Amino acid sequence: MEKVIFAVGEIFKQHDTGFSHPESPKRIEITMNFLKTFKHKALELIGPEKASREIVEIVHDPGYVEYIKVFSEAGGGHPLGDLDTVVSKRTYEVALYAVGTTLKVLRKVLFGGYKIGFAAIRPPGHHAHKGLAKGFCIFNNVAIAAKYAIENYGYKRVAILDIDAHHGDGTQEIFYTTDKVLYVSLHQDPKTLYPGTGFPEEVGEKEGEGYTINIPLPPGISDKGYALALRDIALPIIELYKPEILFISAGFDTHHKDPLTDINLTLKTYWHIGKAIYSLFGRKVEGIVAVLEGGYALNYLPKAIMNLILACNTDNPLYYEKVVLKENMNYVRKSIEKALRVHKKYWKL
Ligand SMILES: [Zn+2]
Repeated sequence: MEKVIFAVGEIFKQHDTGFSHPESPKRIEITMNFLKTFKHKALELIGPEKASREIVEIVHDPGYVEYIKVFSEAGGGHPLGDLDTVVSKRTYEVALYAVGTTLKVLRKVLFGGYKIGFAAIRPPGHHAHKGLAKGFCIFNNVAIAAKYAIENYGYKRVAILDIDAHHGDGTQEIFYTTDKVLYVSLHQDPKTLYPGTGFPEEVGEKEGEGYTINIPLPPGISDKGYALALRDIALPIIELYKPEILFISAGFDTHHKDPLTDINLTLKTYWHIGKAIYSLFGRKVEGIVAVLEGGYALNYLPKAIMNLILACNTDNPLYYEKVVLKENMNYVRKSIEKALRVHKKYWKL
């Protein structure tokens, strides 16, 4: 049995985004309530941990961190005019915990005898740039942990697989010119969804050229098409890169009941993603760290998480839905071929 570490805490409910915001404290509340009755012998729960400001500043501009601190402590609002994003009185503190808890899970999988871990944290991170809060994100939790692993533990090849429905423009920006981090993102076609970036031609620059892999997916894609995109591009490139650590920017807003996107996965696909990752990389990498990003269909969120992270211990999905959603495989194949044409320049696919 593969023990799976799971970090969560009450603190993550204290980032208050206000009435009717999809990225709400309820996401943590419902996950913690779920864990009260959900028992699995592989799952080990741990609490949150706070990061120092210095650690956040290995990725973010000190002036930006100061701005968030002061703005938050003064009561907050929309940072730098980004109307999607909310900073509340406790946001700065909670965001430090989101970073620290991600790092705690990283430590557990690298040095604590675990292979896989999940950080159920908020605010999420993948839209956060070096000096900009946007898309519900304040500090880029995964990017900070990836850079921390490189700078403090000496790793040279870290891969980030971003399965959130949105393109992680912040993560892309942070690692655009390095080959030490491979960023692979599957997301809804940027012509049809926020943030409007993540075209295949955005491949990285300088030493980073070829190490940013964007795979846009047509609206309406479901389980079959998504599996194809994973199988034909995302997973083979990660295999060729031979990462030492694998992060998953684990957004679940690809679920068909999600209110924000038009990617229509059912629960079983999260299990298939988890299973594929574990089978391909479980023995090859030193650790797999999945970190919560989006996912706003509250009733499905905890089940999707468990399907993803417990796939290593189960022969079938823990949860599945008896629905088959129509998808246009022609659109899917065209999108995959288009992305492949770009990425084949850099990778033997
Ligand atoms: Zn998202």
